[in-house]
Amino acid sequence: MLDILIKNAKIIDGTGAPWFRGNVGIKEDKIAYIGKDNLGSKRTIDAGDAVVAPGFIDIHCHSDFVYFSDPANLKKLAQGVTTEVNGNCGISAAPLSEKYRKEIADYAGTIQVSEDLECNWQTLGQYLEEIENLPLAINVATWVGQGTVRAAVMGFEDRAATNEEMAQMKTMLEESMDAGAFGISTGLSYPPGVYTSTGELVELCKHVAARGGIYCTHIRSESDQQLEALKEAIHIGVKAGLPVQIAHHKICGQANWGQSKDTLALIDRARSGGHDVTLDQYPYLAANTTLNALLPPWSQIGGVQSLLNRLKSEDVRMKIKHEINEDTSWENPVRSCGGWQSILIISAPKTPQYEGKTMLEAAQKANKEPGDLIFDIIIANKGKTAGCMFMMEEKDVKNIMRHPATMVASDGIPSPPGAKSHPRMAGAFARILGYYVRKENVLSLEKAVKKMTGMPARRLGLLQKGFVHLGFDADIVVFDPDMVNDCATYQEPLKPPTGINYVIVGGKTVLEHGELTGAHPGKVLRHKNKGASPKKPFVKY
Ligand SMILES: [Zn+2]
Repeated sequence: MLDILIKNAKIIDGTGAPWFRGNVGIKEDKIAYIGKDNLGSKRTIDAGDAVVAPGFIDIHCHSDFVYFSDPANLKKLAQGVTTEVNGNCGISAAPLSEKYRKEIADYAGTIQVSEDLECNWQTLGQYLEEIENLPLAINVATWVGQGTVRAAVMGFEDRAATNEEMAQMKTMLEESMDAGAFGISTGLSYPPGVYTSTGELVELCKHVAARGGIYCTHIRSESDQQLEALKEAIHIGVKAGLPVQIAHHKICGQANWGQSKDTLALIDRARSGGHDVTLDQYPYLAANTTLNALLPPWSQIGGVQSLLNRLKSEDVRMKIKHEINEDTSWENPVRSCGGWQSILIISAPKTPQYEGKTMLEAAQKANKEPGDLIFDIIIANKGKTAGCMFMMEEKDVKNIMRHPATMVASDGIPSPPGAKSHPRMAGAFARILGYYVRKENVLSLEKAVKKMTGMPARRLGLLQKGFVHLGFDADIVVFDPDMVNDCATYQEPLKPPTGINYVIVGGKTVLEHGELTGAHPGKVLRHKNKGASPKKPFVKY
């Protein structure tokens, strides 16, 4: 007797193979039957010709703190996501240190939903135990953030680490890996990642490699210095001996549009040379980050509080304005956007009059220069702001999407209650299926599903997930391929998608036609280092 039988399904198994018609049976938390028979079951779901696919694995998330207020993480479940990987772009929820607790709290504030969350943990292992006690409806994995580790040991100092500090960072990394991190993430265009040399990263990554982990990187430049930045990422993977995941690959800045041809060729060359490099991508033309990220890195040395203090000085403001307008020697997002009119303020809770406006519109409203207003907004909100930066081109987005080493990810960053968000948070997976598969024909449905399931499962070494195969974990999404659509827009970013009928996690139905069932079978997934071969099997496509 099965627990659930899903019949009349178009089964897409996550390998990229063509769909086939059949029934899928679930017993406890495993897929127990795939075939044509109508076996007895406690519950039968008639898929009505909808697709049954493995639950989507979102390999690039910033939901680290979401579960404390929303343990189901409805925005992700509603897209068919059954596993999230957090700790991206250098920022993870742990490890923390007493010495730099305030600095790290400000740093993590960019991905935090609530201001008054007490962090009752110090190590990554303690954090994972903390969220494990919540009624999770979704599976959760994490990287350990290099930025968080560096900030915990040496704050936001723009200098090389001493031997003593290197030793402390290595210990923290090893503890985090042993607690279950899947690898290390970096955010090399943000402080403190931006202050870290290639050599330091190689040294740290060696300790992650020894535990079978991955190097997942938001590279140093996604605009003018993109090719150099990619070469650095590949170099780190080669020197430290670990696979590389290029996070949210994109081409920023009009002057660089079209360069995906060159970046993908570089990745192909690395792969044919035997280096395991893969990518992920969110399907939008706008990036999403804090407004602090629009300022030069030196202005942020010492952390958010130091930035706020510095911004009191008229000389500092003049210098920053000059560098934003004239200086080409740094990763300058305002320049990549082609100006302030392409920056949309989505979250600035203390200055709500500007939310939903571009920096240019906000400046007109305030009767100020955008280059002055941004300082006021950052100060009023104590650095906790977010914006959408329109700096990509559709052709590059499609090119990267088609590449066989590219996976789908949301890169969703939560906003505080009431504030807006980037639509990718609630729409990324449905947008691929509805817009890029059905309307634009960029990918076949089977390829798109593979990029959301089998590929990330293999990348992470989740050997029981990512495929509709017998004996695999019963993480399943049932969606209507003709109806699935993202509804989240820049104006209404949290609107849930349509066409996602059922979401099953660990054999339990957690979402039915958009409604939570209340089941909470979500698990914390821990990378198993012990007995793992130090080198992961090459991820093929
Ligand atoms: Zn990033």
